[in-house]
Amino acid sequence: MFSKKVVYVGEVPIGGNNPLSIQSMTNTDTLDTERTIKQIINLSNAGADIVRVSVRTLDDIPSFKEICKNSTVPIVADIHFDYRVAIEAIKSGAAKVRINPGNIGESWKVKEVVKAAKEYNIPIRVGANSGSIKKEFENNSMVRYQALAESALQEVRIIEALGFEDIVISIKSSDAKENFLANKYISEKVPYPLHIGITEAGIYEDALILSSAGLGTLLLNNIGDTMRISIAGDPIQEVIVAKKLLTLLGFKKGSRIIACPTCARTEINVEELAKKVKEWTKGIDKDINIAVMGCVVNGPGESKHADIGIAGTKTGGAIFINGKIIKTVPKNMLEITFKEYIKNIINS
Ligand code: SF4
Repeated sequence: MFSKKVVYVGEVPIGGNNPLSIQSMTNTDTLDTERTIKQIINLSNAGADIVRVSVRTLDDIPSFKEICKNSTVPIVADIHFDYRVAIEAIKSGAAKVRINPGNIGESWKVKEVVKAAKEYNIPIRVGANSGSIKKEFENNSMVRYQALAESALQEVRIIEALGFEDIVISIKSSDAKENFLANKYISEKVPYPLHIGITEAGIYEDALILSSAGLGTLLLNNIGDTMRISIAGDPIQEVIVAKKLLTLLGFKKGSRIIACPTCARTEINVEELAKKVKEWTKGIDKDINIAVMGCVVNGPGESKHADIGIAGTKTGGAIFINGKIIKTVPKNMLEITFKEYIKNIINS
C-alpha cells in the first residue's frame, strides 16, 4: 500500500497503491494434503488474500504441489535451512518463497534459490525477527530496533547482490514499539514492500490488542503493504481480526458500528442492538457507519458522522440520518424499522 515498489504474489499485487493484502498461515500438517487444502479454502473464504504453508523437508514436496494446485489463493512456501526444499517448492507452484539467506548457508545455495525464483518469476520474502538479530549488530552500540532492521537489511543486500529485486521484507518483533521503529527505519532505506506483523503476539485477546496497537501505528504512519496478525490457535481468527482492523482504520470497505458506552440516561439495550446490526451488516462490501446510541440527549450529536443511527427514547427510538432525526418509532417497531432503513442504505 505504501512502498515504492510493487511485487506480485500470484495475482495479488503487494505495494504501491494496491490495497493491503491479508495473510495467514496454515497450522495443519503439510503432509495432510486434504486438511491443509480445506484450511486454505476456509481462510480464503474468511478473507485471506495469501496463505503461507511450511515446507519442512523434501518429503513435504508432493503434498505441497497438490496444495498449490488446489488452492484458491496464492501460496507462500515457508522454508528454513535446506535450499533444495526452496527450489522444489518453487518448481511445485509456490507464488512466493520465504527464506532466510542466513540459515540457508553457503552463498552458492542462496544463489541457486534466487536463480529458481527468477526463472519462475516469483518474489522472495526475507527479513528478521527479534529472535534472529545478528550477533554483529547485537554486540555493537546499535539500539535494538536498529540492530533488528540492519539484520533484515543484510538479508536484503545478499539477495540484491544476486541481481534480484522482487523482494518483500518482513521485520517482526513481539515488542510493538521496537516493531514500529524497526519497520519505520527500513521503510526509509529501501523501496520494497513490507510484510508487517507482531510476532508471537499471544493468545486471542492479547494478540488482538497488541497487534491492533502495533500494526495500527504502522499503518497510520503509512508503513506496511501486506499483513498478518499472529494469534495462537485457529488461523481463521487471524483473518477475521485483520479484516476488522483494516475496516475500522478505513483501509478496507465494510461496516463500522458506532455505539455509545451507555450511562444512566440509556433508554434501549445498546449492546444487544449493536450486536444485531453487526450481524445484519456482516461481510458487506460497502463503507457504512451505523450508530446505536442510548438516548436522544447526546445520541444524534455524538454520532453526527454516521450514515444512519438510532437513539433510544422513553417510548422507543429515533432514527436519524447525518445527525437529523427523520423518524420516531415505538419500542415494538424499533428493530424492524431500523433494519429496513439500514438495508435501504446498503442497497442504494
Ligand atoms: S448517548 Fe446518551 S445514553 Fe449513551 S452514553 Fe451518551 S448520554 Fe449516555
